[in-house]
Amino acid sequence: MQIESKLPNVGVTIFTKMSKMAHEYNAINLAQGFPDFPVSPELIDRVHHYMQEGMNQYAPMPGVPILREAISSKTEHCYGWKPNVDSEITVTCGAIEAINSAVSALIHPGDEVIIMDPAYDAYEPIINLQGAKAIGVPLRQPDYSIDWEGVRSQITSKTKMIMINTPHNPSGATISVKDLSELEQITEGTGIMVLSDEVYEHIVFDGQAHQSVLRSEALRKRSVVTSSFGKTFHATGWRMGYLIAPSELMIEIRKVHQYNTFTIHTATQYAIADYLKDTAHYEDVAPMYQTKRDFFLKVMKGSRFKPVPAKGTYFQLMDYSAISEKGDVEFSEWMTKEIGVATIPMSVFYQDKQDNRVLRFCFAKNENTLAAAAEKLCAL
Ligand code: GLN
Repeated sequence: MQIESKLPNVGVTIFTKMSKMAHEYNAINLAQGFPDFPVSPELIDRVHHYMQEGMNQYAPMPGVPILREAISSKTEHCYGWKPNVDSEITVTCGAIEAINSAVSALIHPGDEVIIMDPAYDAYEPIINLQGAKAIGVPLRQPDYSIDWEGVRSQITSKTKMIMINTPHNPSGATISVKDLSELEQITEGTGIMVLSDEVYEHIVFDGQAHQSVLRSEALRKRSVVTSSFGKTFHATGWRMGYLIAPSELMIEIRKVHQYNTFTIHTATQYAIADYLKDTAHYEDVAPMYQTKRDFFLKVMKGSRFKPVPAKGTYFQLMDYSAISEKGDVEFSEWMTKEIGVATIPMSVFYQDKQDNRVLRFCFAKNENTLAAAAEKLCAL
C-alpha cells in the first residue's frame, strides 16, 4: 500500500519522546508539563460520588448544563462578562480537542492562520491538516512579546485567523492590556477570527491580571477561547477542557465536536461544576505555582543556567550557553541520560527549529523533586 502521509514532517511529539527517555534512564522528568502532586481529594471524592449516583451515561453533546453554568459564572467572575450557557460554551476533551474542533470547523484549504513563533507544537499540524498554512510571526526578544507590526505585515486576503496563547507555552510570557487593544485594532473591520489559547489562565504571577480576550467586547465577538481544567486542577490525564465562542462560530464548532468526541466524561463534569463553586479553588492556583517558580529559581541560583523570567504557566526557560556548545536537542538528550534530568529543547517550538541554547523546565512539581533536579543541575 502506498500511504500518502498528511503530516509527512511530524513524528511523535517531543513530550512523548522526552517522557519515554526520562522513564528509560530513570531521570527526573521536568520535560512534559504535568504536575507530580495529587489532585484535591475533595474533587476526586465528587467524581466518585457522581459515578456512584449513576452519572455514567452520555452527557449532553455541549457538556452538562450545570457545568456550563459554572463556567459561565466563573468567566463573569474573572473577566466581567457572562457567556450564554446554551450557545456559547462547549466542554471538550482537553483544550487540544477544542483547538482541533475549532480549526477543523472554521479553517478551509488555502486559508492562512497567523501563529506566534515559537508556538505550542500542536498548532501548525492542526492547521496543516485543514490544507491551510500557518504563518509564523517571530515573538520579540528578550521577553517573547508579540510583534504587532510583524502581525500586520503578514495579513493578506487569505488570513482567516490569528492564534495567540497567553500565558504562553513554552516561554511563560503573558500579554498586556495594550496587546489586547493592538489585537482589537488589527482585526477591526475584518473577517479575521481569533483563537486564544488560555489554558494557563489561572497561572499568572506577580500580581498581574490575566488578560483574556473575553475582557474585550470587540474581540469576544470574533474569538474562540480555550481553557483547561487539567491545568487548573492538576489533572492533565482527565482531559477536561472547554471552549467559549460566539454562537455563530459555536454552531459550526459543535458540528465537528459532535462527530469527534461527541461528549465528555459525565461524572467528572458534575464534579467540576461543584468544585468551581468555591472561587478559591482556581484563585489559589497562581500563588501556589508562584511559590514553586520562586523555589525553583532559588535552588537553581548556584547553577550556570540563566533563567528567562516566567510571568505565567508552569514552565521556566533556562539558557545553558555558559555550560555547553551542544545544540539543544543533543544537550537535552545528554542531560537526560547522563545527568538524570529531562527537559524540553526550545528549538522544537520554532518553525525554522532555530537553536538559541535554551531549555524548558516544568516546575509543576513537589519541592523535593525540584530540589533533587537542581542539585544535579548545579553540578554542571
Ligand atoms: N502541554 C504539555 C506540555 O507543554 C504537553 C502535553 C502533551 O504531551 N501533548 O508539556
